[in-house]
Amino acid sequence: MTEFGIAGRAEGLPPFIAMEVLERAQELERKGEHIIHLELGEPDFPTPACVQEAAVKAFQEGRTKYTHSLGIRELREAIAEHYATRYRVQVSPEQILVTAGTSPALWLLFSAILEPGDEVILTNPHYACYPNVIRFSGGRPTDIPVREREGFQLDPEAVRKKIGVRTKAVLINSPANPTGAVLPERCLKAVADLGPLIVSDEIYHGLTYEGEEHSILEYTDRAVVLNGFSKAYAMTGWRLGYAIVPPPLIRPLQKMHQNFFISASDFVQRAAIAALQGAGAEVERMRRIYDERRRFLVQALRRIGFTISREPQGAFYILADANAFATDSYRFAFEILEGAKVAVTPGIDFGSGAEGHIRFSYANSLDNLREAVRRIEAYVAARRKG
Ligand code: PMP
Repeated sequence: MTEFGIAGRAEGLPPFIAMEVLERAQELERKGEHIIHLELGEPDFPTPACVQEAAVKAFQEGRTKYTHSLGIRELREAIAEHYATRYRVQVSPEQILVTAGTSPALWLLFSAILEPGDEVILTNPHYACYPNVIRFSGGRPTDIPVREREGFQLDPEAVRKKIGVRTKAVLINSPANPTGAVLPERCLKAVADLGPLIVSDEIYHGLTYEGEEHSILEYTDRAVVLNGFSKAYAMTGWRLGYAIVPPPLIRPLQKMHQNFFISASDFVQRAAIAALQGAGAEVERMRRIYDERRRFLVQALRRIGFTISREPQGAFYILADANAFATDSYRFAFEILEGAKVAVTPGIDFGSGAEGHIRFSYANSLDNLREAVRRIEAYVAARRKG
């Protein structure tokens, strides 16, 4: 207990290290340094024009009020339509909760389903915030190691072996942050058949370069989909996401949303309809550009001594093995920041399984990626000598 009586769950909450790298990078920028940012999962593209236009129109129409706590009906219908056309699955707008980003949906969901001590199975490495949200909600994360040399692929059999009486859910994320792994259909099917509720974070859908994209809803109704507009639609700062849940879950989530957030913002929801209905070509254009960057960065990092056994297939990250240079990823990432003026995220942010690795985001221009590689190469060469 601290001076102000801060609760243990807040006191013990780990920081999101990617944000801490950003904040240190900004400090260096204030001192006049030029930093290349490869630490955040944030598209460098502007939000598609049709989305911007829809937002402006919505403002002008006075769409500046609270909305229905589940989200405006038109957006929930557009989300249902998106899942129907893309994955051939039927979901009702009554099963959809629209939130201010995928992050609140993640927290609301785990708070709604976890009793103290309930377990959630997830990969290690995983998105940094997953175990923190699970623990904060009273649950216990249970890790399934996934390995670099196997392309960080999840083995459904390994998941099955971890299922116990306290298992409440299995959390999957494909394409994955930080590994870029895309789960093949047979893996999704096998996971869907395991029995527990599957929570599928589909926020990187639309950003797959190899393999196919499938929603977990194609294989089971005992699943929650989490998704949002931040990544594929380049809308991080708009703050909009959603959950598609089995019908019995919607009412508890709705009450929590009413109490804790009221609703997502109206004009942003209007803009999101335009994203789903009109931004497809622009999303595809961005995807092709990310793919080009991915190919460049994989080769360039390999050439300077990072190990990438299998090319990442989706999202916009490379989790590269840095053991040729250092084993302590936290120290090494900050060394790269201070010494090479390139901001990168240490693997340890994503679980013990990513220690010795560095996550590079290629949501940055090819010119910046080239310059970042040049700086890191010069830095590691000087470090070897000295
Ligand atoms: N899930 C994953 C896997 C992510 O990488 C992120 C963003 N880094 C989120 C959820 C949350 O995104 P947002 O709150 O912007 O929708």
